Amino acid sequence: MLTRHKISATLRRQIAARAGSRCSYCRSPELAGVAMVLDHIIPLIAGGASDSANLCLACYRCNEFKGARIEGQDLQSGASVPLFNPHLQAWRDHFAWSADGLRMIGRTPCGRATIATLYLNSDWLIQARRIWIMAGIHPPLE
Ligand SMILES: [Zn+2]
Repeated sequence: MLTRHKISATLRRQIAARAGSRCSYCRSPELAGVAMVLDHIIPLIAGGASDSANLCLACYRCNEFKGARIEGQDLQSGASVPLFNPHLQAWRDHFAWSADGLRMIGRTPCGRATIATLYLNSDWLIQARRIWIMAGIHPPLE
């Protein structure tokens, strides 16, 4: 049986600060009003802990699409590969922004599989990014 552990407000603040208050996957800014949650990188059902090492800030939609998944399909090779792990991997090693900043580009099988599994170039996100660019809060500098 799964046990949900209470996560303190202090730990949540630390995790949000570590992520620069952006989703660890799609990099959407919390300050734009995007609802954020704490994602278990290794899901509880797979034995992941509710601690700093296994929690990352994620927007609600990335967290929902990720669910209990730890792998996704790289549409280029067809291979099933591990999804991006924001604590063990650097975002820029696996993703880049398109020249206009609207789309995420997968640089690796892991990046491509994460984009496909979490729908990181959905119409909604592209429209939101268009507005965030006008507001000067997208794409993130790092
Ligand atoms: Zn997200």
